[in-house]
Amino acid sequence: MTAIIISGKELAQEKRLKMKVEVEELVSKGVKPGLAVILVGDDPASQSYVKSKQKSCKEIGIHSELDVLPVETSEQELLEKIEILNNAKHIHGILVQLPLPSHISEKAVIEAIDPNKDVDGFHPINIGRMMTGQEAFLPCTPYGIVEMIKSKNIDLEGKHVVVVGRSNIVGKPVGQLLLNENATVTYCHSRTKNMKEFTQSADILIVAVGRAHFIDKEYIKEGAVVIDVGVNRTEEGKLVGDVVFEGAKEVASYITPVPGGVGPMTITMLLYNTIISAKRTM
Ligand code: NAP
Repeated sequence: MTAIIISGKELAQEKRLKMKVEVEELVSKGVKPGLAVILVGDDPASQSYVKSKQKSCKEIGIHSELDVLPVETSEQELLEKIEILNNAKHIHGILVQLPLPSHISEKAVIEAIDPNKDVDGFHPINIGRMMTGQEAFLPCTPYGIVEMIKSKNIDLEGKHVVVVGRSNIVGKPVGQLLLNENATVTYCHSRTKNMKEFTQSADILIVAVGRAHFIDKEYIKEGAVVIDVGVNRTEEGKLVGDVVFEGAKEVASYITPVPGGVGPMTITMLLYNTIISAKRTM
Protein backbone atom coordinates (compact mmCIF):
# COMPACT_ATOMS: atom_id res chain seq x y z
CA MET A 1 0.00 0.00 0.00
CA THR A 2 1.18 3.53 -0.71
CA ALA A 3 -0.64 6.17 1.24
CA ILE A 4 -2.47 9.07 -0.36
CA ILE A 5 -0.81 12.32 0.64
CA ILE A 6 -3.05 14.89 2.31
CA SER A 7 -1.40 18.09 1.13
CA GLY A 8 -2.02 20.91 3.57
CA LYS A 9 -0.32 23.21 1.12
CA GLU A 10 -2.85 22.52 -1.63
CA LEU A 11 -5.87 22.59 0.68
CA ALA A 12 -4.64 25.86 2.18
CA GLN A 13 -4.29 27.40 -1.28
CA GLU A 14 -7.82 26.30 -2.20
CA LYS A 15 -9.25 27.76 0.99
CA ARG A 16 -7.30 31.00 0.68
CA LEU A 17 -8.62 31.61 -2.84
CA LYS A 18 -12.17 31.35 -1.50
CA MET A 19 -11.33 33.56 1.46
CA LYS A 20 -9.87 36.22 -0.82
CA VAL A 21 -13.22 36.50 -2.59
CA GLU A 22 -15.01 36.62 0.75
CA VAL A 23 -12.74 39.43 1.96
CA GLU A 24 -13.42 41.40 -1.25
CA GLU A 25 -17.15 41.07 -0.62
CA LEU A 26 -16.75 42.21 2.99
CA VAL A 27 -14.66 45.18 1.92
CA SER A 28 -17.31 46.17 -0.63
CA LYS A 29 -19.77 46.23 2.29
CA GLY A 30 -17.45 48.47 4.31
CA VAL A 31 -15.78 45.91 6.59
CA LYS A 32 -12.10 45.12 6.11
CA PRO A 33 -11.07 42.24 8.38
CA GLY A 34 -8.16 43.27 10.61
CA LEU A 35 -5.64 41.19 12.55
CA ALA A 36 -3.28 42.63 15.17
CA VAL A 37 -0.19 40.65 16.07
CA ILE A 38 1.97 41.38 19.10
CA LEU A 39 5.49 40.06 19.34
CA VAL A 40 7.49 40.53 22.51
CA GLY A 41 11.25 40.10 22.14
CA ASP A 42 13.36 38.96 19.21
CA ASP A 43 13.12 35.17 19.14
CA PRO A 44 14.03 34.24 15.53
CA ALA A 45 11.43 31.45 15.22
CA SER A 46 8.67 33.75 16.50
CA GLN A 47 9.82 36.50 14.12
CA SER A 48 9.55 34.12 11.20
CA TYR A 49 6.05 32.88 12.25
CA VAL A 50 4.83 36.46 12.61
CA LYS A 51 6.25 37.41 9.24
CA SER A 52 4.52 34.56 7.47
CA LYS A 53 1.19 35.40 9.19
CA GLN A 54 1.49 38.98 7.94
CA LYS A 55 2.38 37.87 4.43
CA SER A 56 -0.63 35.55 4.35
CA CYS A 57 -2.96 38.35 5.53
CA LYS A 58 -1.70 40.60 2.77
CA GLU A 59 -2.21 37.90 0.12
CA ILE A 60 -5.91 37.62 0.86
CA GLY A 61 -6.58 41.28 1.62
CA ILE A 62 -6.81 41.19 5.44
CA HIS A 63 -5.48 44.29 7.16
CA SER A 64 -2.67 43.30 9.50
CA GLU A 65 -0.62 45.26 11.97
CA LEU A 66 2.36 44.22 13.99
CA ASP A 67 3.54 45.56 17.33
CA VAL A 68 7.05 44.49 18.15
CA LEU A 69 7.73 45.17 21.82
CA PRO A 70 11.13 44.96 23.50
CA VAL A 71 11.91 41.89 25.58
CA GLU A 72 11.85 43.97 28.79
CA THR A 73 8.21 45.03 28.24
CA SER A 74 6.30 44.58 31.50
CA GLU A 75 3.19 42.45 31.81
CA GLN A 76 1.18 45.59 32.64
CA GLU A 77 2.37 47.35 29.46
CA LEU A 78 1.39 44.35 27.38
CA LEU A 79 -2.03 44.11 29.04
CA GLU A 80 -2.61 47.81 28.31
CA LYS A 81 -1.72 47.27 24.66
CA ILE A 82 -4.21 44.39 24.48
CA GLU A 83 -6.92 46.55 26.04
CA ILE A 84 -6.42 49.19 23.31
CA LEU A 85 -6.76 46.48 20.63
CA ASN A 86 -9.82 45.02 22.38
CA ASN A 87 -11.49 48.39 21.86
CA ALA A 88 -10.18 49.07 18.33
CA LYS A 89 -13.07 48.86 15.83
CA HIS A 90 -10.84 48.05 12.84
CA ILE A 91 -9.26 45.04 14.62
CA HIS A 92 -11.23 41.76 14.58
CA GLY A 93 -8.52 39.39 15.70
CA ILE A 94 -5.71 39.72 18.27
CA LEU A 95 -2.81 37.33 18.43
CA VAL A 96 0.01 37.45 20.93
CA GLN A 97 2.87 35.36 19.64
CA LEU A 98 3.94 32.70 22.14
CA PRO A 99 6.18 31.94 23.94
CA LEU A 100 6.42 35.13 26.00
CA PRO A 101 9.44 36.15 28.10
CA SER A 102 9.36 34.37 31.47
CA HIS A 103 8.43 37.50 33.48
CA ILE A 104 5.08 37.72 31.66
CA SER A 105 2.23 35.34 32.52
CA GLU A 106 0.86 33.70 29.37
CA LYS A 107 -2.31 32.90 31.25
CA ALA A 108 -2.91 36.56 32.19
CA VAL A 109 -2.22 37.67 28.64
CA ILE A 110 -4.49 35.11 26.99
CA GLU A 111 -7.28 35.90 29.44
CA ALA A 112 -6.93 39.63 28.73
CA ILE A 113 -7.82 39.18 25.06
CA ASP A 114 -11.49 39.80 24.29
CA PRO A 115 -12.86 36.26 23.62
CA ASN A 116 -14.65 37.72 20.59
CA LYS A 117 -11.27 38.67 19.10
CA ASP A 118 -9.40 35.55 20.27
CA VAL A 119 -8.76 34.17 16.77
CA ASP A 120 -6.11 31.78 18.13
CA GLY A 121 -8.86 30.07 20.15
CA PHE A 122 -6.74 29.95 23.33
CA HIS A 123 -9.02 31.90 25.69
CA PRO A 124 -10.65 29.67 28.36
CA ILE A 125 -14.08 30.91 27.21
CA ASN A 126 -13.46 29.65 23.68
CA ILE A 127 -11.97 26.41 25.00
CA GLY A 128 -15.05 25.92 27.21
CA ARG A 129 -17.35 26.61 24.29
CA MET A 130 -15.45 24.13 22.16
CA MET A 131 -15.61 21.48 24.93
CA THR A 132 -19.38 21.87 25.18
CA GLY A 133 -19.86 21.86 21.40
CA GLN A 134 -20.89 25.52 21.20
CA GLU A 135 -19.87 28.00 18.54
CA ALA A 136 -16.33 29.13 19.32
CA PHE A 137 -13.09 30.26 17.77
CA LEU A 138 -11.37 26.93 17.33
CA PRO A 139 -7.60 26.68 17.91
CA CYS A 140 -5.97 26.91 14.50
CA THR A 141 -3.75 23.82 14.34
CA PRO A 142 -6.43 21.36 15.58
CA TYR A 143 -9.02 23.06 13.38
CA GLY A 144 -6.72 22.72 10.37
CA ILE A 145 -6.20 19.02 11.12
CA VAL A 146 -9.95 18.36 11.20
CA GLU A 147 -10.34 20.23 7.90
CA MET A 148 -7.60 18.10 6.34
CA ILE A 149 -9.29 14.86 7.44
CA LYS A 150 -12.68 16.07 6.22
CA SER A 151 -11.23 17.18 2.88
CA LYS A 152 -10.70 13.49 2.07
CA ASN A 153 -14.21 12.54 3.23
CA ILE A 154 -12.73 10.26 5.87
CA ASP A 155 -15.51 9.05 8.12
CA LEU A 156 -14.84 9.87 11.77
CA GLU A 157 -17.87 8.36 13.46
CA GLY A 158 -16.91 5.48 15.76
CA LYS A 159 -13.30 5.57 14.56
CA HIS A 160 -10.53 5.08 17.06
CA VAL A 161 -8.41 8.22 17.14
CA VAL A 162 -5.13 8.07 19.04
CA VAL A 163 -3.51 11.41 19.80
CA VAL A 164 0.13 11.26 20.89
CA GLY A 165 0.78 14.50 22.82
CA ARG A 166 -1.54 16.39 25.18
CA SER A 167 -0.49 20.03 24.91
CA ASN A 168 -3.12 22.70 25.38
CA ILE A 169 -2.61 24.05 21.86
CA VAL A 170 -2.52 20.83 19.82
CA GLY A 171 -3.02 17.45 21.50
CA LYS A 172 -5.90 18.12 23.89
CA PRO A 173 -8.02 20.27 21.57
CA VAL A 174 -7.58 18.06 18.50
CA GLY A 175 -8.83 15.08 20.52
CA GLN A 176 -11.79 17.11 21.74
CA LEU A 177 -12.73 18.26 18.22
CA LEU A 178 -12.64 14.68 16.97
CA LEU A 179 -14.67 13.52 19.98
CA ASN A 180 -17.23 16.18 18.94
CA GLU A 181 -17.25 14.39 15.56
CA ASN A 182 -18.16 11.12 17.32
CA ALA A 183 -14.74 9.47 17.19
CA THR A 184 -13.49 7.39 20.13
CA VAL A 185 -10.41 9.18 21.40
CA THR A 186 -7.34 7.94 23.30
CA TYR A 187 -4.53 10.23 24.43
CA CYS A 188 -0.94 9.09 24.82
CA HIS A 189 1.74 11.16 26.56
CA SER A 190 5.14 10.86 28.20
CA ARG A 191 3.77 8.73 31.06
CA THR A 192 1.83 6.32 28.85
CA LYS A 193 2.90 2.70 29.24
CA ASN A 194 3.12 0.43 26.19
CA MET A 195 2.27 3.24 23.80
CA LYS A 196 2.63 0.98 20.79
CA GLU A 197 -0.42 -1.03 21.87
CA PHE A 198 -2.53 2.10 21.57
CA THR A 199 -1.06 3.50 18.38
CA GLN A 200 -1.30 0.12 16.64
CA SER A 201 -5.05 0.11 17.19
CA ALA A 202 -5.57 3.62 15.83
CA ASP A 203 -7.72 4.16 12.74
CA ILE A 204 -6.49 7.74 12.86
CA LEU A 205 -3.14 8.49 14.45
CA ILE A 206 -2.25 12.09 15.29
CA VAL A 207 1.29 12.73 16.43
CA ALA A 208 2.17 16.02 18.17
CA VAL A 209 5.26 15.36 20.26
CA GLY A 210 8.05 17.44 18.77
CA ARG A 211 10.68 14.71 18.31
CA ALA A 212 12.10 13.88 14.92
CA HIS A 213 11.24 10.39 13.67
CA PHE A 214 9.46 9.45 16.91
CA ILE A 215 6.91 7.18 15.22
CA ASP A 216 7.94 4.59 12.67
CA LYS A 217 5.81 2.15 10.73
CA GLU A 218 5.88 -0.44 13.55
CA TYR A 219 3.55 1.86 15.49
CA ILE A 220 1.00 2.18 12.70
CA LYS A 221 -1.91 -0.10 11.82
CA GLU A 222 -2.26 -1.09 8.17
CA GLY A 223 -4.62 1.37 6.51
CA ALA A 224 -4.52 4.01 9.27
CA VAL A 225 -4.71 7.75 8.60
CA VAL A 226 -1.56 9.43 9.91
CA ILE A 227 -1.41 13.12 10.76
CA ASP A 228 2.07 14.39 11.57
CA VAL A 229 1.99 17.67 13.47
CA GLY A 230 5.65 17.75 14.51
CA VAL A 231 8.07 20.29 13.14
CA ASN A 232 11.69 19.42 13.87
CA ARG A 233 15.04 20.41 12.39
CA THR A 234 17.62 17.70 11.89
CA GLU A 235 21.31 18.37 12.46
CA GLU A 236 21.63 18.91 8.71
CA GLY A 237 18.99 21.64 8.97
CA LYS A 238 16.28 19.61 7.22
CA LEU A 239 12.66 20.11 8.34
CA VAL A 240 11.07 16.81 9.41
CA GLY A 241 7.99 15.68 11.29
CA ASP A 242 7.55 13.29 14.21
CA VAL A 243 6.79 10.38 11.86
CA VAL A 244 9.24 8.49 9.66
CA PHE A 245 7.43 9.45 6.49
CA GLU A 246 9.02 7.00 4.04
CA GLY A 247 8.18 3.89 6.09
CA ALA A 248 4.82 5.13 7.33
CA LYS A 249 3.51 5.79 3.85
CA GLU A 250 3.90 2.07 3.07
CA VAL A 251 1.35 1.11 5.73
CA ALA A 252 -0.94 4.14 6.07
CA SER A 253 -3.92 4.83 3.82
CA TYR A 254 -3.51 8.62 4.13
CA ILE A 255 -0.60 10.63 5.48
CA THR A 256 0.37 14.30 5.88
CA PRO A 257 3.88 15.38 4.87
CA VAL A 258 6.26 17.73 6.68
CA PRO A 259 6.72 20.36 5.37
CA GLY A 260 3.55 21.12 3.39
CA GLY A 261 1.15 19.34 5.77
CA VAL A 262 -0.40 20.72 8.92
CA GLY A 263 1.74 23.90 8.95
CA PRO A 264 0.08 25.79 6.05
CA MET A 265 -3.37 24.89 7.41
CA THR A 266 -2.64 26.50 10.78
CA ILE A 267 -2.21 29.98 9.32
CA THR A 268 -5.15 29.41 6.98
CA MET A 269 -7.50 28.76 9.89
CA LEU A 270 -6.17 31.87 11.63
CA LEU A 271 -7.17 33.91 8.57
CA TYR A 272 -10.51 32.12 8.50
CA ASN A 273 -11.20 32.93 12.17
CA THR A 274 -10.35 36.58 11.53
CA ILE A 275 -12.86 36.73 8.66
CA ILE A 276 -15.55 35.09 10.83
CA SER A 277 -14.86 37.64 13.56
CA ALA A 278 -15.17 40.52 11.07
CA LYS A 279 -18.47 39.13 9.76
CA ARG A 280 -19.90 39.03 13.29
CA THR A 281 -19.55 42.82 13.54
CA MET A 282 -21.93 43.37 10.62
P1 NAP B 1 4.56 20.28 23.62
O1 NAP B 1 3.76 21.31 24.31
O2 NAP B 1 6.01 20.17 23.87
O3 NAP B 1 3.87 18.86 23.91
C1 NAP B 1 4.49 17.67 23.53
C2 NAP B 1 3.66 16.51 24.00
O4 NAP B 1 4.35 15.31 23.65
C3 NAP B 1 3.44 16.48 25.51
O5 NAP B 1 2.09 16.24 25.80
C4 NAP B 1 4.32 15.33 25.98
O6 NAP B 1 3.80 14.59 27.07
C5 NAP B 1 4.35 14.44 24.76
N1 NAP B 1 5.53 13.59 24.77
C6 NAP B 1 6.82 13.95 24.97
N2 NAP B 1 7.62 12.87 24.97
C7 NAP B 1 6.82 11.81 24.81
C8 NAP B 1 7.06 10.42 24.74
N3 NAP B 1 8.28 9.90 24.87
N4 NAP B 1 6.00 9.59 24.54
C9 NAP B 1 4.75 10.09 24.41
N5 NAP B 1 4.47 11.41 24.46
C10 NAP B 1 5.50 12.25 24.66
O7 NAP B 1 4.41 20.42 22.02
P2 NAP B 1 3.24 21.01 21.10
O8 NAP B 1 3.18 22.49 21.24
O9 NAP B 1 2.00 20.21 21.25
O10 NAP B 1 3.88 20.71 19.67
C11 NAP B 1 4.17 19.41 19.26
C12 NAP B 1 4.89 19.47 17.92
O11 NAP B 1 4.01 20.05 16.96
C13 NAP B 1 6.14 20.34 17.90
O12 NAP B 1 7.07 19.78 16.99
C14 NAP B 1 5.66 21.67 17.36
O13 NAP B 1 6.67 22.39 16.70
C15 NAP B 1 4.63 21.18 16.36
N6 NAP B 1 3.58 22.18 16.08
C16 NAP B 1 3.29 22.38 14.77
C17 NAP B 1 2.31 23.27 14.42
C18 NAP B 1 2.01 23.47 12.99
O14 NAP B 1 1.29 24.40 12.65
N7 NAP B 1 2.50 22.62 12.10
C19 NAP B 1 1.61 23.97 15.41
C20 NAP B 1 1.90 23.71 16.75
C21 NAP B 1 2.90 22.80 17.08
P3 NAP B 1 3.64 15.21 28.56
O15 NAP B 1 2.42 16.08 28.48
O16 NAP B 1 3.43 14.02 29.41
O17 NAP B 1 4.88 15.97 28.84
